[in-house]
Amino acid sequence: MKIIMLGAPGAGKGTQAKRIAEKYSIPHISTGDIFRANIKEGTDLGKKAKEYMDKGALVPDELVCDLVVDRISQADAKNGYVLDGFPRTIPQAEALDAALTKIGEKVDFAIDVDVPDDNIINRMSGRRACVACGGTYHVVFNPTKVEGVCDACGGQLILRDDDQPETVKNRLKVYHEQTQPLIDYYTKKNILKSVDGTQDMSKVFDSIVAILEV
Ligand code: ADP
Ligand code: ADP
Ligand code: ZN
Repeated sequence: MKIIMLGAPGAGKGTQAKRIAEKYSIPHISTGDIFRANIKEGTDLGKKAKEYMDKGALVPDELVCDLVVDRISQADAKNGYVLDGFPRTIPQAEALDAALTKIGEKVDFAIDVDVPDDNIINRMSGRRACVACGGTYHVVFNPTKVEGVCDACGGQLILRDDDQPETVKNRLKVYHEQTQPLIDYYTKKNILKSVDGTQDMSKVFDSIVAILEV
């Protein structure tokens, strides 16, 4: 099962992708997580990506596409995967399709987690990320047992630099300009499914499972 998560920054793609990955035993592949890991390790890729991420801009396609194609050809991705945060532009979607066509495969579902912009700013200001494992929480909607401490690994929780309201506004603008056209792209391929992302997390998950198991 090959699944793509679409949706604005903060729509809940990561939250849902993680649950899908657990339920169906497939890897959760998040380009944002890959970039943040590279930034933490101080790699060249990390240094380049950070310049764009800090501004709320997209990392250029040529730094993203090969990386993802490479990742999905690894052994653990053989039975499928859930892509979170990729593709984010039409050229990225075309690069993915081209790579899959070459090996006689295709994306099965593109799931759009739909949340209006007004809700997004609130979600992002409350999002907390674990510096150690990348786990994601929310101060109101998904709090940790101990404030500021990751439930999964005990790591420290932070507000991501790019989750500051000014940067979020720019990310939303970039989303509407560059990523939203993918909704049309996958509608034309007859694999787009939309879920109402304003419901609570378990309801959103139930809606997604209902789509995957028809
Ligand atoms: P969110 O899910 O909150 O939108 P991500 O963790 O997916 O955040 O992405 C954080 C940042 O990483 C993006 O704002 C962008 O700069 C960069 N990024 C992640 N995935 C991609 C991608 N597929 N193409 C370009 N840039 C990306
Ligand atoms: P994305 O990967 O799309 O950027 P996340 O999964 O990181 O989004 O979610 C953004 C923030 O909103 C996180 O703090 C998360 O805990 C919270 N969140 C996710 N889904 C919901 C939901 N259905 N209702 C309320 N808050 C949510
Ligand atoms: Zn953690």
